[in-house]
Amino acid sequence: MEEARDLWWRCQLDEGGNSMIAKHISVKYKIPELSVSSVVKTISAFLILALSISSCAKQPAFSGKISPRAVDGVIDLTLWDFEKDGPVQLNGGWMFYWKQLLKSADLKENQGHEIITTPGEWDDLVVNGQRIGAGGFATYRLKVLLPEALPNQLGLRIPSLAVQSAYELEINGKIINQIGKVGRDVTDSLLAKNHCIIPLPLNSNLFDIVLRVSNYHYSEGGLINPVTVGPLVRLQQEELDQANISWLLIGILGIIGFYHLGLFFIRRKDTSPLWFGIFSLILALRSTLVGAAYIYNITPADIQWLILKIDYLSFYLAIPFFVLYINRLFPVEFRTIILRLIIVISILFSLFVVIAPPILYTRSLLGFEIFTFISGLYTIFVIIFAVIRKREGSVLFLTALVLFFATFVNDVLTTHHVLNTGVYLFEGFIAFIFLQSYLLSRKFSNAFTTVEKQSLELTRLANVKDEFLANLSHELRTPLTAIYAYGEMFEHNDDPADMKEYGREIYSNSEKLISYIDDLMLLTRMESDIDMSSSETDIKEIIAENIDKLSKLANEKNISILNLAGSVPEIQANKKYLSKAIHAIIKNAVVYNKENGTVVIAAQNDNNMMKINVTDTGIGIAAGHLPLIFDRFYRVDSSDTYEVSGVGVGLFLAQKIIEMHGGTIGVKSELGRGSEFMVELPVK
Ligand code: ADP
Repeated sequence: MEEARDLWWRCQLDEGGNSMIAKHISVKYKIPELSVSSVVKTISAFLILALSISSCAKQPAFSGKISPRAVDGVIDLTLWDFEKDGPVQLNGGWMFYWKQLLKSADLKENQGHEIITTPGEWDDLVVNGQRIGAGGFATYRLKVLLPEALPNQLGLRIPSLAVQSAYELEINGKIINQIGKVGRDVTDSLLAKNHCIIPLPLNSNLFDIVLRVSNYHYSEGGLINPVTVGPLVRLQQEELDQANISWLLIGILGIIGFYHLGLFFIRRKDTSPLWFGIFSLILALRSTLVGAAYIYNITPADIQWLILKIDYLSFYLAIPFFVLYINRLFPVEFRTIILRLIIVISILFSLFVVIAPPILYTRSLLGFEIFTFISGLYTIFVIIFAVIRKREGSVLFLTALVLFFATFVNDVLTTHHVLNTGVYLFEGFIAFIFLQSYLLSRKFSNAFTTVEKQSLELTRLANVKDEFLANLSHELRTPLTAIYAYGEMFEHNDDPADMKEYGREIYSNSEKLISYIDDLMLLTRMESDIDMSSSETDIKEIIAENIDKLSKLANEKNISILNLAGSVPEIQANKKYLSKAIHAIIKNAVVYNKENGTVVIAAQNDNNMMKINVTDTGIGIAAGHLPLIFDRFYRVDSSDTYEVSGVGVGLFLAQKIIEMHGGTIGVKSELGRGSEFMVELPVK
């Protein structure tokens, strides 16, 4: 651990080979001025999340004191209390010597110079009537007047984003930092970035900064981001805090990334964890490149051009993976054509980064940011649509986005001193990533829950089928045994009266068998090819016929069947099947009735609906069974139903047949008191 820390906190060598601690720190996140282009940049940064990762550092609380600015190459900090007011950025007008690489010793007091406002690229500065552009070399100079009372040790923070090409820093005539190679042309210079805090070697209350910069590789030249001076301990502490947050973020993103890749490899059907995992890992990589710029700090200058490419690629390639992820979450809302367009454009930008030299591809950044901004707007529309259509996880996604956006707005306002609530972008970003992970895990566990439910349902169905087979064998065996026995007796008995009796028994048991087999055949054909051709059908006649068929069964238990069907119109129906359905309902009212019970059948035309009610005074059905009695093979298993034969298909078929006629069937029942089945059929 210590060793690792030492690695990050490498010492840098000064000119004389003395070791100087140059600690690496995260850059504070810079909230751009509120111009149109900065708003575009800022919002796009928010949308892609990636740029914000560098912004995870906490800003020190605003002390309320306005920082002094440099004027004509001098910044007066004599009234600045470093202990109370904290570090201060050396912003304002610096002396600027274009196309000159000057040493402190060569600089004369009245030497001609320009004044340049820092931080800011030098590109637009006009020297000798000409805009100087991004490429070239120059010397910056600033004199810093310090207060009488100074903290023990002052330090200078030069973030990696301050000068993105190459520089040499001289303080009071002594070179204290060299990054890359500053040269007079492209062949003589080397691009490099570094992030450091340097203890200031002070022996008076004035210090003189001379900064030589050359740029042939980057789209913006010069001192682009602020340099800060402050108590060394404070700068180091801030660095440590920010490094902790930064590593925490890298760790979280890394774990989340690998976790989701793992999820994908377990269940490859759903690719959303794959895209989210890759996206998180790219962000983790990016976190090591921006801010504290850990990778730059440990990479030798001669291969930093490669790191710069990876830096850009980590932004340009994060976008397609993020949109792929959203597309998988909301595939209907996120149009495939737009997805392809975003992927193709991102790949073209990425190819350009791979092929082109840095001076060209670093210029593509603004274009890509605008493209990201537009893609982000589209994504927001997609999510809003998904919420309107109540898609799974859409509300959570929107919540995560709103949370993140709220912290972002809060931070912009805090940085511009409109609010004084502190900065929370880091928390917002972590909340965003966690909510995404939660969303994916929930999706995953929902899939498992569905599988669990389905396997329970399968087990239940397997049991139902077993029970059905047992019932069926029993139901088929009983009439078969009777037929067998009467057949045998028929053979050995010559008495004509007995023979007539045996014949009747054989006939009625065969009828039972045929009816079972008919039911089973109908059951298998139900979903496909049954002929439901209809004709004018008289319901009253169907009811009367079925009462007649069931009278013997009713008589056995002394059950009276009352037919209260009034005069009703004929309806268009398939007589054979409708009769089967009504038979099943009346038969149940008889067989599940008590000794001496009653069955009442009523039929009436109500507003062109034929209503048939079959009420009995039987055993009734417990509430828990009611929703299931129309299921295939479902039978109530109780001591009351034990005696009654059946295989649990009567009501299933009745319901199907009635539905095929455009009607409905319902039931009301009270255990021990009886049941009422209500059938409704359209008259026309
Ligand atoms: P089954 O062949 O078992 O009669 P059904 O599909 O006709 O099959 O009925 C399913 C279950 O509904 C029956 O097992 C019985 O428990 C219950 N049931 C149906 N009608 C009545 C009724 N009128 N009274 C009490 N229980 C009934």
